Amino acid sequence: MSFAAISTEDKQRALSELSEVKSLFASKGWFPGTSGNLSIRVGDYAPDEFHFAITASGKDKSLSTPEDFLFVDQSGKPCETTRLKPSAETSIHCEIYRMTGCGAIFHIHSVFNSLVSELFWERKSIPVDGVELIKAFNIWDEEAQIEIPIVSNFAHVPSIVPEVTERLDPRIPGIMLRKHGIYAWGANAFEAKRHLEAFEFLFEYVYRWELLKRK
Ligand SMILES: [Zn+2]
Repeated sequence: MSFAAISTEDKQRALSELSEVKSLFASKGWFPGTSGNLSIRVGDYAPDEFHFAITASGKDKSLSTPEDFLFVDQSGKPCETTRLKPSAETSIHCEIYRMTGCGAIFHIHSVFNSLVSELFWERKSIPVDGVELIKAFNIWDEEAQIEIPIVSNFAHVPSIVPEVTERLDPRIPGIMLRKHGIYAWGANAFEAKRHLEAFEFLFEYVYRWELLKRK
């Protein structure tokens, strides 16, 4: 499906959902120093052809302007003539959409997610054991144990992508970049938000539990 074939309503809906999520996350302090990025897919999906709206690079995400988002294709190239630049981390969004076919991807930096990624860096995953909120990921086993993958962080963003490809676990709707931030996704914006909020709760839980154990 070409970008032009996607209805204006679908595109508008994606933009208004992104705006809403952006204000909500900004109110939680989840975009320090213009960091973080959000995207929502529009139109049909095929692993080699899809389109999504993504936050523009370098904007203050606590403000709302008509230039907050732009549409890009599966390779991260803008679909329309624009002077906006897509987020510097667009290639990671492209790869997660390609691998999962999900509908929305939200990425934020937080102190807790950065701390636990360093605490468990040698293990290459953050273990979470029997915490109720694991159910937010549709994992319903009693006393479920999960491992949230951690990948290397590089200043050159495209260098991060191969490890995402290698480590993404289809059961876990998120991946952590070391001392950087979490990428969480879902079938739609509602689900991606639920997943992201659950991850952030679990990261704070894991951090505090580690401190208690060490006393
Ligand atoms: Zn980031």
